[in-house]
Amino acid sequence: MALAMDSATRAALEERIRFYRDLGLTEFYRRPVDEALVRKLEAEAAVEAAAAQAYAADPARLAAEAPAASAPPAPSTPPAGAPSSNLFYEESAIPPRKPFPPAPEVGAVVPAAERAQALQIIRDEIGDCKRCALHTGRNKLVFADGDPNARLMFVGEGPGADEDMQGLPFVGKAGQLLNNMISAMGLKREQVYIANVVKCRPPQNRTPEPDEAHTCVPFLFRQIDVVRPQVLVALGATAATYLLGQRQPLAGLRGRVHAFRGSQLIVTYHPAYLLRDPRQKKEAWADLQIAMRELGLKVPGK
Ligand code: URA
Repeated sequence: MALAMDSATRAALEERIRFYRDLGLTEFYRRPVDEALVRKLEAEAAVEAAAAQAYAADPARLAAEAPAASAPPAPSTPPAGAPSSNLFYEESAIPPRKPFPPAPEVGAVVPAAERAQALQIIRDEIGDCKRCALHTGRNKLVFADGDPNARLMFVGEGPGADEDMQGLPFVGKAGQLLNNMISAMGLKREQVYIANVVKCRPPQNRTPEPDEAHTCVPFLFRQIDVVRPQVLVALGATAATYLLGQRQPLAGLRGRVHAFRGSQLIVTYHPAYLLRDPRQKKEAWADLQIAMRELGLKVPGK
């Protein structure tokens, strides 16, 4: 018998199914398929595919974002009318702008029972931070969210408008997608730890400048040393750059495990980039499957 479902549950379920379809996961129906829903999702997929084709047809975008290692170098300045966020240039071959400092030594292991308090000490030390110019546009400083004893940690770039309002990372549209990615891994958001390279929103969501990131990232490293996650997922080029201490196109960093401060680091696309180019969700899912294997989680269909 078909379940009666309220409209909010139905909308949430539709979004989840749409996300799984984007990952290429379609074989999970246990009950007779809702034909009307399938037709609706298929129509949406056709619209999305057409939009993706149009998006890829722009040569400037192609040059900047093509995931293949053979992609030509990206322009150093966005084309006129391009969105201000540099996440748009996620896949660009970014030249080094400034030498990165050597990665700090890994701190001592903090006992599980003391991690929440150790994180609070870091938060208190950050205080009402004015260490870089980003504080001038800040509404709320975004420290982190999640379980201090998490086995899995995600690192993003920096807060956007929603995060700046709420003081929590990944609570806007990109956050909804990250939540879906986490649940596709069989986990709940509360089970992971989430933080960013910078803790204050850059103006117009631009990429943090190197001096801003270098000022803030030591606190992120200390958070990582406290949580000591088994697996760390860098979301996008900025997180990968400042964690690994080297600028490289994402394509060269994805698809493998990097040793990082006692954790296994996996690099994948930023959810905001995936919202712009949903075709890459399958690639992101492949990266998340590497994380799942490292964590000993069951990969669906494997
Ligand atoms: N993008 C990020 O990189 N971090 C957030 O917290 C939100 C959006």
